[in-house]
Amino acid sequence: MKTIKLAPVLLIVLFFMDVYTGKATKAQNQVSISYTVTFPEAQAHYADVEMTISGLRQPMLDLKMPVWTPGSYLIREFSKNIESFSVSSNGKSVAAPKTRKNCWHINTSGLSAINVKYRVYCFEISVRTSFVDASHGFLSTTGIFIYPDQMLQLPSTIHIVPYKGWRKVSTSLDMVNNDPFTRHSPNFDILFDSPIEVGNQDVFGFDAAGVKYEVCMVGGGNYDRERLKTDMAKIVETETTVFGENPNKHYVFIVHNFLRGGGGLEHLSSTTLGASRDSYATESGYRNFLGLVAHEHFHLWNVKRLRPIVLGPFDYDNENYTTDLWIAEGFTAYYQNRVLCHANLITPDIFLTTVAAEMSFMENQPGAKIQPLSESSYDAWIKAYRPNENSNNTTISYYDKGAEVATLLDLEIINDSKGRYCLNDVMKYMYETYYKLKKRGYKDIEFKQGLEKFAGKNLDDFYEKYINGLSPIDYNHYLAYAGYKVTDQLAATNDPTLGITFATNSPKKIISSVLRGSAGWIDGINVNDELTSIDGTPVTDAATMLNGKKTGDKITVTVLRDGLPLTLAVTLLRNNKVNFKVDSLSNPTPQQLVVRKKWLAL
Ligand SMILES: [Zn+2]
Repeated sequence: MKTIKLAPVLLIVLFFMDVYTGKATKAQNQVSISYTVTFPEAQAHYADVEMTISGLRQPMLDLKMPVWTPGSYLIREFSKNIESFSVSSNGKSVAAPKTRKNCWHINTSGLSAINVKYRVYCFEISVRTSFVDASHGFLSTTGIFIYPDQMLQLPSTIHIVPYKGWRKVSTSLDMVNNDPFTRHSPNFDILFDSPIEVGNQDVFGFDAAGVKYEVCMVGGGNYDRERLKTDMAKIVETETTVFGENPNKHYVFIVHNFLRGGGGLEHLSSTTLGASRDSYATESGYRNFLGLVAHEHFHLWNVKRLRPIVLGPFDYDNENYTTDLWIAEGFTAYYQNRVLCHANLITPDIFLTTVAAEMSFMENQPGAKIQPLSESSYDAWIKAYRPNENSNNTTISYYDKGAEVATLLDLEIINDSKGRYCLNDVMKYMYETYYKLKKRGYKDIEFKQGLEKFAGKNLDDFYEKYINGLSPIDYNHYLAYAGYKVTDQLAATNDPTLGITFATNSPKKIISSVLRGSAGWIDGINVNDELTSIDGTPVTDAATMLNGKKTGDKITVTVLRDGLPLTLAVTLLRNNKVNFKVDSLSNPTPQQLVVRKKWLAL
């Protein structure tokens, strides 16, 4: 079975490798592609696309739209938003039957040029989907531009015709003839990695690490331009030091400010961030925003260039499976705080708080004992990106455990090398070896070898325990390298819990999750039950519903399940949640202080 399955996969990879290396056929070299995007009905959330392909010398052509956007590991079926698809040549209609959900087949025999028109409905607010209204247009390019199959290596020109009153375009794609509304893309991998913002955004810039940075703020906000320029430049400089060079000439931050927003998506020379427009003025809100900046910008190296081998060139038709998202995302999640610490944008104490929070999260997630880290990455497409009410019980995030693993490895490397090396050296070595010299992604084993090179030891055991296995992590063993220890601030408590949470979108006490191993789990409380009373007292407030009860008490819980009353006998169990704090050991040794100094850039 495996051999039969592997053969076509290998062929697909080889095919895309060929496309990626730019070996266009002679006929394809004549092909010229341009797009014009207009917004005649921006108020109704439409982008209208006209694509012209000329120089054709082939009997047939397939036009396709990607089904996913790199960096966001979910099949999103972007072609679901397409309507009014039509093809013509010299003013005559040409048939374009669909042969797949995202593919149109065209008989181009005798045709040298075709014109394709379609409309895209853009009304999904996120960093990886397109959104258009009368105030602005955000084009997430994988969901906007169709491409000629087997021609991913070809360049294209993109003309943007703004809706009335829109005056600016922000994207990392180069201008043609200094016209901001006309952009050039060298190939489709770059087009699909270059979101475009059109409207009246607030644009400002700064220079850092020899690169021109542009910040494009959409939706307003209480941000301080000058403070952002200074602090974002510090992040850029610090991250550039990790890898030794900044490969861009021009980089764009597209920031969407909403009433409540968050999240980001990395690209080769830009990123899209979501933020809350009133969050910049509070210390924690501002810090969170800088963390997001540090995270997405770090990706321009880690995953956009230094990447697992299957993540580029991409298969835009299918899932692209990798066991290495704990490196791509988890290491980036670790570095976002480490970079802020090294850039003096947060104190070492705050950094240690993030380390402790990561450890607490891991311990409080029952899924950490069920799903190995490498599997969490591989199944991102069906689990991490498709969470349900049982996700906490059955999965672990490759962001959180990946960041945890990065913490352990950083400390291991610093300790083993007596402060000579740290995780930066691994990242830089891997970037230089695989991105720059070999010009390809790394295999699982190659990243492990890079880590071993600087850790000075074989990491088979580490991988078996923490990457592919489910061993509990001995945090104090690693923290002790830097003269720290972790303690659980809840260790002495004996409070009871049912282990349930309630839906926040209903005034009723509807149960939204039941924690594995808790009293609710063992004694049969179910998700979607409506909790009505405990020992005959109606439940109105989750915070006080167990007042006066102790661990070990036998109580009666009444619920409505599918509208029918049900009484359950429940034995209350201790709340096993931990809340870790990292503290210094009382008398750290000189070696521990060497490790601490290197780790925290003291
Ligand atoms: Zn990320």
